[in-house]
Amino acid sequence: MKAPPFRYARPRTLDAALQLLAKGGGEARLLAGGQSLVPALNMRLLEPTLLIDINGLDELNGISESRSGVRIGALTRQAVLGASDIVARRAPLLTTAVPFIAHEAIRNRGTFGGSLVQADPAAELPACVVALDAQLEIAGPRGRRCVAARDFFKGVYETALARDEILVAAEIPAQRGVTLFLELARRQGDYAIAGLAGWAALQHGWIAEARLVFFGTDIRAVEAKTASAALPTSLEAAIAALDRDLMPVADINASAAMKRHLAGALLRRACAKVMARAA
Ligand SMILES: Cc1cc2nc3c(=O)[nH]c(=O)nc-3n(C[C@H](O)[C@H](O)[C@H](O)COP(=O)(O)OP(=O)(O)OC[C@H]3O[C@@H](n4cnc5c(N)ncnc54)[C@H](O)[C@@H]3O)c2cc1C
Repeated sequence: MKAPPFRYARPRTLDAALQLLAKGGGEARLLAGGQSLVPALNMRLLEPTLLIDINGLDELNGISESRSGVRIGALTRQAVLGASDIVARRAPLLTTAVPFIAHEAIRNRGTFGGSLVQADPAAELPACVVALDAQLEIAGPRGRRCVAARDFFKGVYETALARDEILVAAEIPAQRGVTLFLELARRQGDYAIAGLAGWAALQHGWIAEARLVFFGTDIRAVEAKTASAALPTSLEAAIAALDRDLMPVADINASAAMKRHLAGALLRRACAKVMARAA
C-alpha cells in the first residue's frame, strides 16, 4: 500500500520545527529515520496531513562524552550508536543491545530518539535508557524540560512527550558494573518476546547491586525494583520477586504466563553469564 497524501517540510532549526509542529496541531508528525513511521503510513494506521522531516536539525545529532557520562542526540542513527567508542566506554549496555535491533539496513536509518518516542514495549533502547537512569531532554513551545527515562514510558506507544514537543537528546550517567543483556526472539532481528537489560556490580564473587529492566513482557519497559533489591541476597528470591514487579501481558508470541516464566529464565541465565565471565 502507499501512504496517504501529506505535505512535507524540512526545517533547518529546532525553533522552526517547533513552530511547524505547533501550527500543525494534531495533524503533523515528525519524521526521523522513518523505520516505524513510514510503515505505519503505508498501512494507513496514521494519516497525518504534514510530515516534518527533522533530519536537517544538526543540534539533535551526535554523541559526546560529558564529565558524568555521555550525551546522545535523538537523531543519532542506531548503527552509529552501536559503533561508537564513547558509548562502548561510558554505556556499554547500549553497545551490547544495538545489534539486537532489527537488521543493519533498519539500524542505518533508524534513530536513537525515534526508538524512544515510538515506545514499543518490546524495543531494546527504551529498556536500556531506563536501566542507565538517563535524563531525556525535551524541547517544546514552553522551553526545555528534562524527564527521567523511568517516567517517560507510559504504555504501548505512549510517552510523556506532548504532541508539540521534540525529543532532543539523552544524558546518560556513566554505567556502573557489568552489563546484563539478554533477549528471546523468534528470529535474529525480531522484536523481543521477553528481554532483560541492566547492570550488576560484583563483590566477593557475587552481585552486590543490580538494576534489572524487563522489556517485551509488560506494556512498557519495567524496572524490576523488588527483584533488583533481592538479587544480592538470593537469585531464587529475585526470580520469585518478579511476581511483584511485572504484570505480563499476552501478545501474538506468548501468553502472560509464558512471559513471566521467560523473565525468570532470562534473569537466571544473565546471572550465570555474568558469574562465568567474572570467574
Ligand atoms: C522490519 C522492522 C523490524 C524492526 N525491529 C525492531 C526491533 O527488533 N527492535 C526495535 O527496537 N525496533 C525495531 N524496529 C523499529 C526501528 O528501531 C525504528 O527505527 C524505530 O522504532 C523508530 O526510529 P525512527 O528513527 O525510524 O523513527 P520514525 O519512524 O521516523 O518515527 C517514529 C515515531 O517517533 C516520532 N519521533 C521520531 N523522532 C522524534 C523526536 N526526536 N522527537 C519527537 N518525536 C520523534 C515520530 O514522529 C514517530 O511518531 C523495526 C522496524 C522495522 C521496519
